[in-house]
Amino acid sequence: MSDQSSGSEKRGSTRRRFLQLAAASALIPLLNIHSRPAHAESLPPLNDTNPTAAGLFYRKSQEGAKAVDGYQEGRKCDNCSLYTASNSGCMLFPGKSVEPAGWCKAWVPKPS
Ligand code: SF4
Repeated sequence: MSDQSSGSEKRGSTRRRFLQLAAASALIPLLNIHSRPAHAESLPPLNDTNPTAAGLFYRKSQEGAKAVDGYQEGRKCDNCSLYTASNSGCMLFPGKSVEPAGWCKAWVPKPS
């Protein structure tokens, strides 16, 4: 019986993760990413009170991220597919920088 509930929890977690990635992916075309050049200048930091950042549980550090349900060790902005190393930007937050050691629930693995 506990195996069934454990399997159900795992399927629920996988479904939730899929829905988060689908929602994040759906936002990308709306951001007009391709017409926005990568700027070498520094960008102002993403504010914790940004509604999207808050909704995605953005945290500036791994310590902060560890407290968020769904966080997985080793996931951080600088190994996220949506991160731009040249200006610490994030495709989800145009014009803002994120912390390389930060994280949010929209984290997407880089293609291998
Ligand atoms: S984890 Fe990825 S999507 Fe989330 S803030 Fe960092 S770079 Fe952006």
